[in-house]
Amino acid sequence: MTQDADAIIVGGGLVGMAAAVAVAKAGLKTVHLAPAGPVDRRTSALMMPSVDYLTSAGLIGGPDAVGHPLTQIRIVDATNRLIRAPETLFDAQEVGLDAFGWNFANLRLMESFQTAARALPNLETRNVGVTEFSGDGGVPRLTLADGSVLTALLVVGADGKKSLIRSAAGFRVRESVFAQAALVCDLELGRPIGGTSIEFHYPQGPFTLVPAGGNRANLVWIDDEAVLREALASGKEGLVPTFLSKSQRLFGSVAMLTPAHVFPLSTLTVDAAGADGVVLVGESAHAFPPIGAQGLNLGLRDVADLADALSAADLSQPGWAVSASEDYSRRRAADLARTGGMVDTLFRSLLAEMIPAQALRAGGLWALKLVPGLRRQAFGIGMGER
Ligand SMILES: Cc1cc2nc3c(=O)[nH]c(=O)nc-3n(C[C@H](O)[C@H](O)[C@H](O)COP(=O)(O)OP(=O)(O)OC[C@H]3O[C@@H](n4cnc5c(N)ncnc54)[C@H](O)[C@@H]3O)c2cc1C
Repeated sequence: MTQDADAIIVGGGLVGMAAAVAVAKAGLKTVHLAPAGPVDRRTSALMMPSVDYLTSAGLIGGPDAVGHPLTQIRIVDATNRLIRAPETLFDAQEVGLDAFGWNFANLRLMESFQTAARALPNLETRNVGVTEFSGDGGVPRLTLADGSVLTALLVVGADGKKSLIRSAAGFRVRESVFAQAALVCDLELGRPIGGTSIEFHYPQGPFTLVPAGGNRANLVWIDDEAVLREALASGKEGLVPTFLSKSQRLFGSVAMLTPAHVFPLSTLTVDAAGADGVVLVGESAHAFPPIGAQGLNLGLRDVADLADALSAADLSQPGWAVSASEDYSRRRAADLARTGGMVDTLFRSLLAEMIPAQALRAGGLWALKLVPGLRRQAFGIGMGER
């Protein structure tokens, strides 16, 4: 039986776009199913290994054309708890870098990825979604929203948190939903923020300002979803004074440049990220609260490992897709477990009301403040070094 394509990528988010480019660059006849979705006005802080990957994979030219460098991370304990952490400043120069990473508007990244995709003659992009998946008989088969059917040897599920590919292909998933959500919007501050990302840690979650050039910052405020919905309903008149007070008036005035949006938060992990010619990348395989800026960083590491698994496979052999999917799963296992565990622990420790947990966290930050070797290790983990 012949297939319609060697590989089909499902999902047109940033990870799906990056995966489509990587799979086509591996020489496979590739179809990318990317139905148009709502405009993604979020921004992504990407650490240097991810930025290097984007550049070497031809997904962006240089970071300075699309993003802003992050040179320092400042953590302010705003909890008023009994045991408080010290104010901690991490500087990229401590580890011999000009920047930890770069902050990108997702829209700018998407435009740049689309330009890379258009240059690949063996990559066909279709503006249509998948309604059904079946792997019966050994050949993955997809039914599309327009009623047509496509078959391929390899299917890449990049269809986000509620992945149809993940559930239809029978991947086991563990998920927990939090009472917290994230409110995001772009702000114009009264004073420049430079290259410093500032996190105010409140009992219900961090209030983070990520530099976006000049006086602009991207806000990610994590709190109880009910609190955020109420703040959102209060409009600009209610939000601006709240932002001023939460940022401890460090930057003088605050003005909103974009409308605010609220994203519910959950964690999700799969036991294995590939089997039987199906692989999961990005949020179809893992989703975390946006702290420690790990989500897209991890998704890009999925794509880099997928590219490596394909380049290690003998594509002329029957069964290459099944062995590549298993190889991919092995390559991803340790990183997914380590990053998932780290973000989950960090998130729960930020919210913990228990004195021992507060003491541990405060103690951990004191140790990071005082012990240079430990700081370097923490940088390595946060930046996704392998
Ligand atoms: C507030 C917030 C801030 C964040 N900040 C950062 C950060 O600073 N750094 C970082 O690294 N990460 C960050 N993240 C995480 C990051 O945004 C995500 O990890 C990343 O966008 C996930 O991309 P994705 O392509 O996997 O999923 P998505 O962007 O969800 O894309 C999935 C796509 O699949 C499509 N789809 C769904 N079902 C189907 C179907 N049946 N058929 C076809 N297509 C389908 C959807 O339309 C969508 O386009 C943040 C997340 C949030 C919520």
